[in-house]
Parts: sequence; C-alpha cells; structure tokens
Amino acid sequence: MSSGSPTPLSGPDFAAGVPIAELPQGEPVLGHAHGEAVILVRRGETVFATGAKCTHYGAPLVRGLVVGETLRCPWHHACFHLGSGEAIGAPALDPIASYEVVREGDRVRVGARRPAPAPRRPVSSPPSIVILGAGAAGAAATEQLRREGYSGPLVLVGDEPPVDRPNLSKDYLAGTAKEEWLPLRGAEFYRSLDVELVAGDPATALDVAGKEVTLASGRRLPFGALLFATGAEPVRLPLPGAERPEVHVLRTLADSRAIIARAEGGRRAVVVGASFIGLEVAASLRNRGIEVDVVAPEPVPLARVVGEEVGRFVLGLHEAKGVRFHLGRKPAAIEEGAVVLDDGARLACDFAVMGVGVRPRLALAEAAGLTIDRGVVVDEQLLAAPSVWAAGDVARYPDPRSGRPVRIEHWVVAERMGQAAARNMLGAARPYRDVPFFWSRHYDVSLHYVGHAEEWDAIELRGSLDGRDALVAYRHGGRVAAVVTVGRARASLQVEAAMECGDETAVADLVQV
Ligand code: FAD
Repeated sequence: MSSGSPTPLSGPDFAAGVPIAELPQGEPVLGHAHGEAVILVRRGETVFATGAKCTHYGAPLVRGLVVGETLRCPWHHACFHLGSGEAIGAPALDPIASYEVVREGDRVRVGARRPAPAPRRPVSSPPSIVILGAGAAGAAATEQLRREGYSGPLVLVGDEPPVDRPNLSKDYLAGTAKEEWLPLRGAEFYRSLDVELVAGDPATALDVAGKEVTLASGRRLPFGALLFATGAEPVRLPLPGAERPEVHVLRTLADSRAIIARAEGGRRAVVVGASFIGLEVAASLRNRGIEVDVVAPEPVPLARVVGEEVGRFVLGLHEAKGVRFHLGRKPAAIEEGAVVLDDGARLACDFAVMGVGVRPRLALAEAAGLTIDRGVVVDEQLLAAPSVWAAGDVARYPDPRSGRPVRIEHWVVAERMGQAAARNMLGAARPYRDVPFFWSRHYDVSLHYVGHAEEWDAIELRGSLDGRDALVAYRHGGRVAAVVTVGRARASLQVEAAMECGDETAVADLVQV
C-alpha cells in the first residue's frame, strides 16, 4: 500500500521552537518543521524528533505508543527507533525521518534532518548467503543482512518477486488498491543492495552438509549460511471438481489477479471455508458487487481461533453486507455453474474460491533431512541445522511465553523472524522473542490480535464488539495468552509491549479496562 501522499501540516512549528515543559513525557506530539510533518517525543530531558507517518501503510504515528526508545505504529505494530528513525521491527521496512533537536535554554527546536544510519559491523560474516523463498521472511531477511553490514554475496531465490501478500485478499482484490502498490521491492532496489534476485527458477534440492542449493535450471548455489523460508501453500480440498479452472485458491499475486478476472466477468461466487482469508475474499468480492455464498462446516466462523463471540461479530459484519452463509455444511462436489453441498443443495456460482487453510511447504526440507514436526523445527535462534536457519510460515519455533513450539502464519511474524534470523546469521546469537501480532480487515472493521492462544480456559470481553470498541482476552493456565481488540489500537500496542517484557501483571491490568 502506498504511504506516499504528504501529511497535511498541523500543530506547532517545531523549527521555531517549543518550551520543553509543554511536551508531555513519553507521548508523541504532532507539529511540523521545514515543511514536513514531525513528531516530538520527550523522554526525561531528552527530546526526539521523527517523521510523522509510518512507512508501511502511512498510519499517523502521533496515535502510536512510545515504548522505551521506540515508537510503535497503531495500525500494524511497526517499530521505529526514536533516536535514528530506523525501522527496527516489521512490517515497516524503511526508516522514518530523524531530525536534530537543538536545546536553547528551556526550549527545543527541530534542526536539520539526519542522514540515514550507516550499516553496522557484523560480528561474523559468512562467505555467501542464500535466502530460499522471496516472501515476507525472505525479503525482510535480505534487507536486514545489508543493514547489519553484510557485504558478501547474497542471493534471494523465489518463485515470484516479493509482494505485499496481505493486500491480495483486501484492498487489491476489492479494487481499491493499485497493483503498483503490491511489490514489496522492485528489481532496482535489489540491484542497489547488490542482491541477486532469482525469480522463476525455483530451488529443487538442498544439500545441507555440502552447503549447496540446486535450482530448477540446474544452477548450483553454494552457501555459507542459508535461510529456509519457503512459506506455505493453500490447501485444495480433494473434492470432485476441485481442479476445475473456475475454482481458485489465493496465495500469490497471480492467484489474486485470476480471481479479479473472474469477478469482472461474473456475478456470483462461492467461498469455501470461513477462514480469515476466505472471509476477506468474501468482503472484497462484495465490494465489487459480486453475490457471495460462504460454505463452512463450523457453526460459527473463526470460533476455533478467536472464540464464539468474536466469530459471531465477524459473521454479523458479513451478513450485514449481504453475504449468505451455509454453516454446518461441507461442499460435496463442484460442478459447472454450482457448488453442491453435502445436503444436496446447489449454490449457483460463476466461480469458487477455496479458503480452507494452508500447509507449510516442506518438501525440500524433508528431502534435505531437516528435522520436521508439522514445520521445520528450529531452536530459539531460529537455527534448523548447522548454517541453516528457517523463518516464517514454514518454521516451528519455541514460543518463549508458553514454552511450547509454535508455527505461526502471520505476516509480521514472518518478517520479524526473517530479520532475527538475518542478525543471527551474522553472529548476533539472539533468541527470537517477539510477541506474535496479526490483523485482519472486514469492510471498515480491523481486528488486531497479539499473543498466541491455540486453546483457552476462559474468554473475557470488555467494551462492546457491536460498538466497535472492544478488548477480548484469552486466558490459559492462569495468564492472558492472547488479546483481540476492535477499535482499541493503543491497548493492543500496550498489551504487546507488556507481553514483550514478560510483565504478566501489567498484561492482566491492561485487560481489565
Ligand atoms: P511466503 O510469504 O508465502 O513466502 C514464501 C515464498 O517462498 C513464496 O514466494 C514462494 O513462492 C517461495 N518458495 C517456496 N518454495 C520455493 C522454492 N522451492 N524455490 C523458490 N521459492 C520458493 N497475515 C497477517 O498477519 N495479516 C493478514 O492480514 C494476512 N493476510 C493474508 C492474506 C492472504 C491472501 C494470504 C495468502 C496470507 C495472508 N497473511 C496475513 C499471511 C501472511 O501472508 C503469511 O503469514 C506470510 O506471507 C508468511 O511469510 P513467509 O515468508 O513464511 O511465506
């Protein structure tokens, strides 16, 4: 999504100076300097000045949260360093501007923009690095390696160039985002980083002991360190007719384009599966004026992931927009012009989309002898085997909060794992401890989810879902395992920050409000 449009200037002119006493502690204040929107943040006697707009989707950072020396974005939890503006936590990949702050008596004024920080010096430097998979994890890792000062040969291997995948079921599919917003980075960007992007020549073999990847073309890529980030692939239910050309799945830009082409020529669609992606597809197709039926075996959509109350709320959002649900039903077959259900009902449609989940792409890892447990097993530093790290949807890692191994399918998690693996490839030896976060959007309602709860003993709801001002806490084993918010972006950031530093008392307090 573009974040390119300028923020209109408002608030004080920080270049002219403001009394330091007027700046609240730890709260962003919006103003401007030198014709740019600027945020001031005071911490003790130090004042930081940064750009005002998140470099991910352009969110107003004045509504963000200051945590230590970081500023967190209210929309998708990007994390910036206050002192340098550096994007230290995905989903933002580019820094925000950082300005000199000049103290003059009891006033501060914003001076010149600071140059971007120089790359750091890595602790160690493998002779070459191959990133296998050009998705969220692979793309974020590649950039991080250069930011960390890695200057050796770096190859990013993917089936496709990296795209902003979450957009494929949301604005792009709905027809409200331009295709030019989708590439995460272009070919020129990788050239400028001296990264070789290999797209369209997938890897066919991985030799861990021999430290070599083989591509479909027969090309061999030796590596000193490898990131395994092959992601996941959508499941196609084994039904009669499931392979028909008018039956789609959604993972890639090509998949999304193909659904758009069907929508442009069609009137009715059936979405099989009431998953987050299935429901986002339903919303986007409704935005295009398509009639949508959703078929799913569960009585309440998403109940297994977010509980019945939130599931019913999301169901209501879709029903209010005219989506017809066939819950407690399974598709039995897909025929020309209809999806046939297990009770014999026929849902007429021009096309169908299956949103029934994904499975990790493990074939290469299995053949290479990596340890597999419904994902590539990694340790707390994301190491799968000597010199081989894994990240993203494909990796199962030890979750520090629950103490259990988890495999998580979230965009921000994949990017941050990629960034963490990149640092560790260069000798940082730091455990991956970020708190999982994802968002999902249905029409004008966004759900923010922090933490991770595969099961719970109790669910507590504060506020009102229908009023779009709610916090839902999922308790497991005496602590809050996860929190969903609607219309409470700041609370979501606060819970994430408290979980991050292991302050369970603060988490418990935050979910009381
Ligand atoms: P991917 O992004 O899938 O990247 C893996 C890459 O590896 C792919 O490009 C693949 O082609 C490539 N690859 C695989 N095998 C090979 C090979 N042998 N050789 C070369 N390349 C290979 N998450 C959220 O948190 N919020 C959302 O709102 C959200 N919306 C989503 C919407 C859609 C439509 C989809 C599909 C996913 C969404 N997700 C969302 C999930 C999120 O996109 C994934 O969790 C994330 O992309 C995982 O990143 P990854 O790098 O592990 O895998």
